[in-house]
Amino acid sequence: MRSLLMRQILFCQKRSLCSSINSERPRVRFAPSPTGYLHLGGLRTALYNYLFAKSRGGDFILRIEDTDQTRKVEGAVEALKTDLEWAGIECAEGPGFNGQYGPYVQSERLDFYQEHISTLLENGSAYKCFCTERRLNILRRDAVKSQRVPKYDNRCRNLTHEEINEKMNAGIPHCIRFKLTSDCQYFDDLIFGGIAYDVSINEGDPVLMKSDGFPTYHFANVVDDHLMKITHVLRGVEWQISTTKHLLIYKAFGWQPPQFGHMPLIVNSDGTKLSKRQSDVKVEDYRNNGIYPLALVNYITLSGGGFDHVPGAGVRIKTIDDLAEEFQIDKISSHPSRLNPDLLEECNRLEIKRQLQDNDLSKTLVTNLKNLITKTYPKHNLNLSEDHVKTVLDWSVSRISRIEELVSKKFGFLWILPKAKTEVDQVLLAKLVTNLENLEKFDQNTLKDNLRSFSSNNGVKFPALMKMLRGVLSGLDEGPGVAEMMDLLGKSQSLERIKAVVR
Ligand code: GLU
Repeated sequence: MRSLLMRQILFCQKRSLCSSINSERPRVRFAPSPTGYLHLGGLRTALYNYLFAKSRGGDFILRIEDTDQTRKVEGAVEALKTDLEWAGIECAEGPGFNGQYGPYVQSERLDFYQEHISTLLENGSAYKCFCTERRLNILRRDAVKSQRVPKYDNRCRNLTHEEINEKMNAGIPHCIRFKLTSDCQYFDDLIFGGIAYDVSINEGDPVLMKSDGFPTYHFANVVDDHLMKITHVLRGVEWQISTTKHLLIYKAFGWQPPQFGHMPLIVNSDGTKLSKRQSDVKVEDYRNNGIYPLALVNYITLSGGGFDHVPGAGVRIKTIDDLAEEFQIDKISSHPSRLNPDLLEECNRLEIKRQLQDNDLSKTLVTNLKNLITKTYPKHNLNLSEDHVKTVLDWSVSRISRIEELVSKKFGFLWILPKAKTEVDQVLLAKLVTNLENLEKFDQNTLKDNLRSFSSNNGVKFPALMKMLRGVLSGLDEGPGVAEMMDLLGKSQSLERIKAVVR
């Protein structure tokens, strides 16, 4: 059905140059429904709106579209605000923020919708519809049976004043519908280029106000974007099909519409649709799984476009300010945005690296890792000095992408004494202790050379010595190189571990 509708959209011309972007100071909005939590797609919409506003000195507004009260989820608004704040997206206006165009929650704006629906009823662009749910179901069923696009047959459009009064007096519930004209609307999509579409071909007159007095999305969205002085609407491509309908509503009011840009679908790296599991990944889950906000934000921009691509420049973590400065809406491609999960890991790794280079951020990172260690290994028995933890972090950035990995089994030896499980040659190791005690430098390279000559001087094969030592030092069969491990643990801790098995 959807592809059938899409085929009737005329893509008139390639995207025009960015000079056609309305140059007034932007007021953009992110308008989620509080039906759940913020997911990657929602974050992308919010982020691109924010970058667009910030890059042009404008405002980002949060509006909650809760006209479908049945789908409302308790606590969702607060969670959304937490997620946006975590991601570094600042709301200039919105529920709980300042702003002179509030309230910013649609269920608190019913009076505005009532007032504006009267305007459309009075100027003849809208009408009362008394059709029952039963009649509408029959229309739908008949259309499906005869393979037609199901649409309302606009029957109540032609009711006389007397008929309307009669039904009103009889207390028959009614909704309010918009009179669609077959006037093909055209708009210049900031991302997709020129689009023209005659909505009335595929749709019957849409409902603007439901019988419970709540507006539908289409109506509330137009009224609010106008009243809140929104200049640019950037939203997901799934709403593109509705835009010409919205334009008709603007026209019925005699209002100037904002400019529209629709962001392409987000898909897997192979171009397939995101699985339910992936598209359902909440921003909160990323946060709880050790992903940093800037890493997630950069990951989104890497997949979503909007920036000059410097070939061979590799991945670089940019701050929100950098991103806003470099953002160019005309660089967003209309092709689906392909996600590459490896890039998320790379972004997070680079973000850890960036934080380690900053004094304050690195202190927080050390504290967080210490907390993780004490939580994971309540009986940790090793050195947790700031310096040591920082050394481990510096060492780890080329190996890990989340600090949680540092408390996994693989790196547990860094924080607790291992249970050695290898058979050891006590005589040989006793000799090794003396040899190591005499070492002045205890860095990786010195150790590597020293262990090599120790193995040949003592007639033991190097790999066998390494295997034995690895077991003694970490209790593991695999992991970082032995010299590297000793360097990390430091001289006294390494010697202590070897001595423990010699005794
Ligand atoms: N409430 C709509 C949503 O949940 C907003 C669509 C729009 O931005 O117009 O996505």
